[in-house]
Amino acid sequence: MSTAATLAQASLAFAARDPADVLHEVFGHTSFRGEQEAVIRHVTLGGDAVVLFPTGAGKSACYQIPAICRPGVGIVVSPLIALMRDQVEALKQAGVRAAALNSSLSAEDAAAVRRQLLRGELDLIYVAPERLVMSGFQQMLSGIEIALFAIDEAHCVSQWGHDFRPEYRDLNRITELYPGVPRIALTATADAVTREDIIERLGLENARVFSASFDRPNISYSIVERQNQKKQLIEFLSRHKGDSGIVYCLSRNKVDDTAAWLNAEGIRALPYHAGMDARTRSANQDAFLREDALCLVATVAFGMGIDKPDVRYVAHLDLPASIEAYYQETGRAGRDGLPADAWMSYGMGDAVQRRRMIEEGNAPDAVKRVEHAKLNALLGVCETAGCRRQAILKHFGEAHAGECGNCDTCLTPADTWDATEAVIKALAAIYRTGQRFGAAHLVDVLGGKETEKVLRFDHQNQPVFGAGKDIAPKTWQSILRQITASGLVQVDHERHGALVLSDGARAVFKGEQRVVLRRDQPQRSAAVRRSLERTAGLPEAAMPVFEALRAERTRLARLQGVPPYVVFQDTTLRAMATARPRSFDELAALPGIGLAKLERYGAAFLKVLAAAE
Ligand code: ZN
Repeated sequence: MSTAATLAQASLAFAARDPADVLHEVFGHTSFRGEQEAVIRHVTLGGDAVVLFPTGAGKSACYQIPAICRPGVGIVVSPLIALMRDQVEALKQAGVRAAALNSSLSAEDAAAVRRQLLRGELDLIYVAPERLVMSGFQQMLSGIEIALFAIDEAHCVSQWGHDFRPEYRDLNRITELYPGVPRIALTATADAVTREDIIERLGLENARVFSASFDRPNISYSIVERQNQKKQLIEFLSRHKGDSGIVYCLSRNKVDDTAAWLNAEGIRALPYHAGMDARTRSANQDAFLREDALCLVATVAFGMGIDKPDVRYVAHLDLPASIEAYYQETGRAGRDGLPADAWMSYGMGDAVQRRRMIEEGNAPDAVKRVEHAKLNALLGVCETAGCRRQAILKHFGEAHAGECGNCDTCLTPADTWDATEAVIKALAAIYRTGQRFGAAHLVDVLGGKETEKVLRFDHQNQPVFGAGKDIAPKTWQSILRQITASGLVQVDHERHGALVLSDGARAVFKGEQRVVLRRDQPQRSAAVRRSLERTAGLPEAAMPVFEALRAERTRLARLQGVPPYVVFQDTTLRAMATARPRSFDELAALPGIGLAKLERYGAAFLKVLAAAE
């Protein structure tokens, strides 16, 4: 008997089987994991479901088993061809009649899959979202029995999610077109806003929601303040000799530089980014999947659908876009359940760079506001004095007692201060201004700054106006970010990122709860401090650079009609001319450059410095 015939027969035998038998006979497991069984039984009986499981919790079985148990074909919407290929291959290996229909198929292969589909010879078919809504495909579906629709990576439907794909939007049509066919939406990463959006966009209001804990206890989180990043990375990697891992960078250039430098340091590393030719890129990916002790240096273009179980570390050399992105990227470590490290080296310049990326993007304003708010939430995790795991899980709506014992703040407590008085002022400022404003305006109110907006809303007459003059605006920003991260305050995405009080704020107001925050302390590195001491008498060689910087300062000052020292003082320009910073981060380490000035002038001065190289 041919293999195909054997498989066909085997598959027929599964019809009308109990999910537990399919689990055992097809997938070789004797018991379900966690909530898996509840989901599978619910969907097998025809119910709709929304499944929020972390990576490694067995999401695919939640639709694969019901599709096998129910009559007809299960239609799986998946965003990536590579993902489809791997899943179909795995199913075929298990004897399931599965296929994918996508643009990578030859005309003959696609025709063969269509024939199988029409003849009812498939248990599962994987398609891209745009194909599902094509009229030709719809016509084909009208003639066959459908077991269920599964929408994988469902966060792609939401523009609040970090992987928004517009083509997912049309998927709501399957509700009207196929009433009575169960639908199951699945994701491994979605915060509260994204979850609600998934349910609304896909018309799953009546679906049962299943969620498993998002905690990945085997992953140890640590976020270090950037000093000398390369040295810090080498130190971190020295704890991972012989391990495989991923190092994420924001730009392609940084990927190439970092990979080359690691090789020079004797650490085998390969680059991966979208700017490389396809052959080298896929060769590097294959090498990573195959080899041990290989460091893959990549942009976020790498990772989705990567199933390598023994990734022992994920390092971030730049700040990700959001907690979800950070969670998803670090989640690629330790899928085998063994100890793994998530490590990030983070500096103040990162936030500025991210904000520029959001502002320079093409997204509508509403989306930009959400992106800013998500960035703030991630900064909150970076700055928290408490357990990182607790802060991350809180973002996913999960309560964790904290003190996980497996993150840097639990293992080495941060320098903290009792900020209760300041926090009460901040909460009062939020309350008194009607819970309608974002952090920037609140900082102005607390600092007693008579801005146009303050005057427009008559906030200069509020008792909280100027109540926080004794604390620097930068510290207020940090306080607001930290109390957002801790959940005392929530960000209202619908209302322009306004900060609103949550239930927990009451106890602080009433003096029943003290608030301890992490000290805001952008430490200057020893190297930068040393270079500053040298600026007393500016060296001859630095003079032309200094003059170029001065000219730029004059230009910027004239544009705004302000004196040059308002832009930067001489000491700052001298420091720039001597230290020759090349990045926002290096620039931020110099005296007289706060966050606002970094945002406002950083790019212009870096350009002058680059031109003077
Ligand atoms: Zn912890």
